[in-house]
Amino acid sequence: MITPLIDPFARTIDYLRVSVTDRCDFRCVYCMSENMTFLPKKELLTLEELDRMCSAFIRMGVNKLRITGGEPLVRRGIMTFFETMSRHLKTGDLEELTLTTNGSQLEKYADQLAAFGIKRVNISLDTLDEEKFARITRWGRLPQVLRGIEAAQAAGLRVKLNAVALKDFNEDELFTLTDWCAARDIDLTFIEVMPMGDLGNEDRIGQFWSLKDLRVQLETRGGLTDLPDRTGGPARYVRVDATGQKIGFITPLSHNFCESCNRVRVTCTGEIYTCLGQEGHSDLRGPLRASENDTVLEDAIRHAITLKPKGHDFDYSRQQVDGQVSRHMSHTGG
Ligand code: SAM
Ligand code: SF4
Repeated sequence: MITPLIDPFARTIDYLRVSVTDRCDFRCVYCMSENMTFLPKKELLTLEELDRMCSAFIRMGVNKLRITGGEPLVRRGIMTFFETMSRHLKTGDLEELTLTTNGSQLEKYADQLAAFGIKRVNISLDTLDEEKFARITRWGRLPQVLRGIEAAQAAGLRVKLNAVALKDFNEDELFTLTDWCAARDIDLTFIEVMPMGDLGNEDRIGQFWSLKDLRVQLETRGGLTDLPDRTGGPARYVRVDATGQKIGFITPLSHNFCESCNRVRVTCTGEIYTCLGQEGHSDLRGPLRASENDTVLEDAIRHAITLKPKGHDFDYSRQQVDGQVSRHMSHTGG
């Protein structure tokens, strides 16, 4: 391994999220517009380029890699990518290879993922009501995702559910979702909705529901104990006293995790974003394609890390949603 990646604020970067596609088989209202224009194929990093880039990060000390999108499992040939990346798990250079998925393709791929050394998956699911699920994802069908979750668990994968907290949408399902997960030994994390892009949604789904409120409701029902677990990201965890269930809260709008931020993101076109909440990014595709030798790429990665900002600037407390960034989550990868 060569010198690790350390940013100007002495934070070691050991976690990489890579989006492998901007495409998706769903159109969640808070993430995409109904009529998305996707990138031409030549703009995307090929699977070989993705491998080269991830492997460069791993040489520089990244030991956790999360694959995301768009929907990562709709990228053609993605299983080959997981298979080749699994060599880094075998050497021990990579501690964890994982993915965030909408679950629609898990019935097909869960066994292969487990065979390639994937131990955990994050599955996004905001509601257990079929009609509401179709409304929020526009194109998704709940039974398919539920079968995906079952397949993941049957393959031995640890499942974590990510639910976006949406006012007037899944407020009434807080306890249902919590109990459903507890009954299946599925971890659960609630995410505050972020002001991403201009999605032109006429429907009013996608409104901010503060996790503080949600936490109070859970606390009132069962009592909660804060857990010290930290992942370097915006997640905080509690334990439900009555049942022992662990629940996470991701509040990307709060600043108070930035000082421990250990991660960067790379889009499917090879742009590196060193902060989810800021527009600043650098190009890695040019350096990657400029030379077969990885030195140019490694230099570009190092340079990008020197530009990692101290923190971000979302703020819901004012009338206007300040700090709004114009790109979609499907672009940077959640
Ligand atoms: N398609 C995969 C999925 O849905 O899990 C991976 C990509 S998706 C962009 C990653 C995560 O971002 C999902 O959990 C999704 O709910 C979340 N997400 C998308 N748009 C969001 C927004 N505006 N605010 C908060 N979370 C968002
Ligand atoms: Fe697709 Fe995930 Fe975005 Fe939903 S949140 S549209 S599943 S990328």
